[in-house]
Amino acid sequence: MSEIRAKKIWRNGELIDWEQATVHVMAHALHYGSSWFEGIRCYKTARGSEVFRLPEHVNRLFDSCKIYRANIPFSKQEIIEAILQTIDANNLEQCYIRPLVFRGAGAIGVNPLPAPIESYIIVWEWGSYLGEDAMENGVDLCVSSWHRAAPNTFPSMAKAGGNYLNSALIKMEATLDGFAEGIALDSEGFVSEGSGENIFLVRGGRLYTSSLNSAILPGITRDSVITLARDAGYEVVEQKIPREMLYLADEVFVTGTAAEITPVRSIDRIVIGEGKRGPVTAVIQRRFFDYVEGKVDDRYGWMTPVRTKKLTIDD
Ligand code: PMP
Repeated sequence: MSEIRAKKIWRNGELIDWEQATVHVMAHALHYGSSWFEGIRCYKTARGSEVFRLPEHVNRLFDSCKIYRANIPFSKQEIIEAILQTIDANNLEQCYIRPLVFRGAGAIGVNPLPAPIESYIIVWEWGSYLGEDAMENGVDLCVSSWHRAAPNTFPSMAKAGGNYLNSALIKMEATLDGFAEGIALDSEGFVSEGSGENIFLVRGGRLYTSSLNSAILPGITRDSVITLARDAGYEVVEQKIPREMLYLADEVFVTGTAAEITPVRSIDRIVIGEGKRGPVTAVIQRRFFDYVEGKVDDRYGWMTPVRTKKLTIDD
């Protein structure tokens, strides 16, 4: 993985140097987890650099903040333009984009409402999340002993910093036990999601993925895969998934902005299907990468070009 660093960071409406983007220790978010963020990818395509599903990610950021009564002092359009401006300012052909909104310094009680809202956009170069080899050969997962939060505790539809303490427990347990990732069950024991990915399984030629009532983040890659799979003629079912359905699947893969489409070869040391990337996963992966790399037409309008054509002397 390349070093995480870039030149410029966008903060509250202006570009500042990477080193200047510091936060006061009294920030509410540091004490109480009151932050909301996105993970977005910009791909180098045949047409130039393009951001994948940018408006959908910005919508989800605003949704996350709405749930927690945090008003971002910028419009969605301003955030979209700021993201494009930040990529451009860092001169990156492809990158990972992290918009981050949090409650800053100004109030130290638990009540977050008096604390000011700080908005940042950070971009950096980031390759494959679970490893290059994983994309082809698949990864080994476990079912975590940690569950996702019950629906009346933490809202899973918000991509909130605090939720990632649960993700960190899942991820640490999995990696220390020698697995690439852990899959959490929901509070009823049905399959929820990984620490940073949604999960799909293939059985009898049909795709299954956990529904929104299993404490999942409504993944934008998940949504894209549902569309691309239906496009390819597969039936996709969103439902409560019993744990053992994972073991009995012909194929399993996980999806996420960071993980993209990563095949799974075993879960709890039980071999899934043939123990390697299955044929349906290969079709979905190919369709996904062809799409984001601009090898096919942008038929769903999912790609936003970074640079609007600049006027030159000759124009
Ligand atoms: N679930 C969790 C907990 C995540 O952190 C992520 C990554 N954002 C996902 C699912 C996948 O979401 P997306 O495809 O929008 O990146």
